[in-house]
Amino acid sequence: MEYMRSIKKRNILFRSIVVFSISLVVFIVSIIIPQTSAHEEKTFKQTEEFRALEQFITTETYEIQQGDTLLAIFQIQVGISYGDVLLLIEKINEVFDITKIKQGNVVTITLVDGVFDYLSYDINSKEELIISKQDLEYIVERKDIIFEIKESVVEGDVGSSFYTSGIEVGLTDRMIMELATVFAWDVDFTSSLQKGDEFSLVFQNKYREGKFAGTGDLLAGRFVNDGQEFFTYLVKDKEGNNKYYNEDGDATERLLLKTPINYKRISSGFSLNRKHPILGTFKNHKAIDFAADTGTPVETVGDGEVVFAGWSDTYGNYIKIEHGQGFVTAYAHLSKMYVSPGSRVKQGSLIGAVGTTGRSTGPHLHYEMYKNGSLVNPLTTKTPAGKSINEALKSDLLEIVSRYKAQL
Ligand SMILES: [Zn+2]
Repeated sequence: MEYMRSIKKRNILFRSIVVFSISLVVFIVSIIIPQTSAHEEKTFKQTEEFRALEQFITTETYEIQQGDTLLAIFQIQVGISYGDVLLLIEKINEVFDITKIKQGNVVTITLVDGVFDYLSYDINSKEELIISKQDLEYIVERKDIIFEIKESVVEGDVGSSFYTSGIEVGLTDRMIMELATVFAWDVDFTSSLQKGDEFSLVFQNKYREGKFAGTGDLLAGRFVNDGQEFFTYLVKDKEGNNKYYNEDGDATERLLLKTPINYKRISSGFSLNRKHPILGTFKNHKAIDFAADTGTPVETVGDGEVVFAGWSDTYGNYIKIEHGQGFVTAYAHLSKMYVSPGSRVKQGSLIGAVGTTGRSTGPHLHYEMYKNGSLVNPLTTKTPAGKSINEALKSDLLEIVSRYKAQL
């Protein structure tokens, strides 16, 4: 009896799920149909490149709208019966959680002589979901996207703004940030750039079926800041991780980043041309003051342990972090603190926000660096380099340097 009841219960549950699903699909259909017909011009692009072939192959692209489900798309755009769609759910779920489809992503549907042949959906920037029909069966696969890679060399001068200069020479936002990231241990992009600074880089452009599909890796870079020249080269380790080294094999990564205000965070969030000048010099008060709006994110410059996070009458909300090897950094006048004493932090993690608490005349970050107990200038102090390159990768580095150095 108990067993029967549970079956009954499950039947009821199953039925209500089916009823709910059907009404959901009907609801979605009712939203999508007027939308797609209204935007038909925009969301559907038909290509007739393959007309010369015996079969008439057409490709339709559909941009996923808010509230869409892959199943609704399958029923409406592809015309698969509800029963078949239900069977497909299981198969798709084996390789990809279909509830994870993203609004704004594109589904490409290929038809042969007007009949569904296959559908592709980019799961992420590296993999795609392919649903094809072979005979009467649907085949669901998760595959690596195949890109054609071409290398580009770009160089520029930093004019009034590094970001603007990057855009002017044709770099994407992503590649500008990438360049700022690989040199973040040597150059303070928020406040130390000078007119006449130069950059050059070699990077990958990716193409998919002949069309530009974004940038790939930054392969090599050169940055000249205030007359100092820095080089970096990408070497992939055995696990395929990206690591950057100079030509001597020293890691570009150091114990501490050059600045606690990340160019990436301010450039994407605020006015891109905005300058972050340094108020006052190190000489005056043994710290660097970064002028920035209240709320500007503050990052820790290195891995470490929070040794103080609390109130000081002078420094207001004040955080002090110990990084090992004799280095301690401190951040003052914060409007917000996201860490507490004793917590461990990772290089580049968010610890607080710029403010004007304590004895301060306006919003700014007062940043201090201690080396073996004495205050030192964070902008001129070289902190210990990260791990040198593995012996086994040295020949790779030599080859990479000889390939790219002349292009930089
Ligand atoms: Zn100060």
